[in-house]
Amino acid sequence: MIKKVIELRTCIACRTHKHKSEFIRIVRDTNGNFSIDSRGKIQGHGAYLCKNLECLKRAKKSHGLDRAFKSKVDSTIYDAIESILQN
Ligand SMILES: [Zn+2]
Repeated sequence: MIKKVIELRTCIACRTHKHKSEFIRIVRDTNGNFSIDSRGKIQGHGAYLCKNLECLKRAKKSHGLDRAFKSKVDSTIYDAIESILQN
């Protein structure tokens, strides 16, 4: 029997554990640039957020990304996530 590895991740806003495919992944690449990794292909340190506006708002308010990356994250990244969620 092959045991399948389930890669659970934690939302930075609500702390819910879910499969990584259910999250939006925000990545800091090796140059220190932040981007939204919609295909899960970007190398680097990632943070995960549920695909809903409520978690986005909560993360923005509590500076969830700042805490996840232990550095200042530009607020434009939250706007970028918002535009993805509204599509
Ligand atoms: Zn969440």
